[in-house]
Amino acid sequence: MYTEIFHGLYRIELSKLSSSCYLLLSNRNILIDSGTSDDFPLLKQELSKIGISYKDIDIVVNTHEHFDHIGGNLYLQDSAHIMAHRLAAVKIEYGDDEVTMCRVVKQDVVGYKVNVWLNNTDIIKTDDWFLKVIYTPGHTSGCMCLYETRKKILFSGDTVFANGTLSAILNSGSLAEYLNSLQKLKNLDISLLLPAHGKISEHAREDIEVSIIDNIKRFPDAKYLLKSIGII
Ligand SMILES: [Zn+2]
Repeated sequence: MYTEIFHGLYRIELSKLSSSCYLLLSNRNILIDSGTSDDFPLLKQELSKIGISYKDIDIVVNTHEHFDHIGGNLYLQDSAHIMAHRLAAVKIEYGDDEVTMCRVVKQDVVGYKVNVWLNNTDIIKTDDWFLKVIYTPGHTSGCMCLYETRKKILFSGDTVFANGTLSAILNSGSLAEYLNSLQKLKNLDISLLLPAHGKISEHAREDIEVSIIDNIKRFPDAKYLLKSIGII
């Protein structure tokens, strides 16, 4: 199923296991996350309903290295440039299944290529999109968000969800880094939050504030931390 968020921006939802994917049309078409490998036929079908072939995708950006965000890469990497944060790229390319968890769904562990190893503050630019990489480790060490600085949109991957729902801290992740990443995002001017799972949100600031407090509550010294940042 796909939804046109506005002209040139689509959200594509596949089966429950896959991340949602975002299609950003322009002179170079960008796909943010590619779902599981098993869902690629579905992705292909939704793209053709929108009116493009998967071969028309020029850039695939993975928000992090989990299987449900990278599986479609295997079918896209011959015709598109694949980009991920460098700490995700290394795990994707070397087939680090402790982190990518591909075997859980019997998805290929190796064979993925990443052409562009991104760093914090790198820019991905087309005629209509200006995406700034914000490195947000926590859920895993390779997580990043993409901030569209002109349109005030945050593509938040598995870092921020609507209503402040938190991600699990999975292999290579860190609770402290997650908290730090959320703090980094909280002052951004965001009018639309587009996460990789669940609903989209127009209340990003509140969502991030709730997630910061809930994240702190996971620490054994939660009270001390809440005090130190002035929440209690
Ligand atoms: Zn994930």
